Amino acid sequence: MLTPTHLTVCVFIGLLLHLNRNEWFVALTFGVVIDIDHVFALPRYVSDNGWSAILRPTWDDASGLPWRSLLHEPVGGFIVGYLSIGWRLMLPLIFWGIHVFMDWLQNEFIEYSTPIESAILIGTVVGSFAIGYHRWIVSSGEKTWSRYLSHLWMSVRTSIARNGSVTP
Ligand SMILES: [Zn+2]
Repeated sequence: MLTPTHLTVCVFIGLLLHLNRNEWFVALTFGVVIDIDHVFALPRYVSDNGWSAILRPTWDDASGLPWRSLLHEPVGGFIVGYLSIGWRLMLPLIFWGIHVFMDWLQNEFIEYSTPIESAILIGTVVGSFAIGYHRWIVSSGEKTWSRYLSHLWMSVRTSIARNGSVTP
């Protein structure tokens, strides 16, 4: 599936699991960043198929040429499983498994790829907002959407300001 969909799914599940800062890093690495292998396949794919082919649901152009790494195959589970055991942390396996499952789902139901992906994208975005809203109601005691949205906006602004002022 498209990388933004992987991202919204990871955020949704990460919120459900109450991840901390380090866990978010692991979750996003194994749930989203493994799509980076597409970047290496990009030049060859675009020169063979043209830029418009980027929006195709899969990049498998039947050329038999690799467009994603072993990390996208079930066998990648050995690598990720090994890391999970070594780190005593199930998160890599969970988020990697979700990623591979989503890609499998898409290939399996390729003719319904667009409606399935849209449903997942919208569902997880709405779900993430709902979780955030619910937690905000509990912690602040307030109960209006507009106050919640301005609270979200403020926290985005302060986190940008804070990260922007950090000196390495
Ligand atoms: Zn992928």
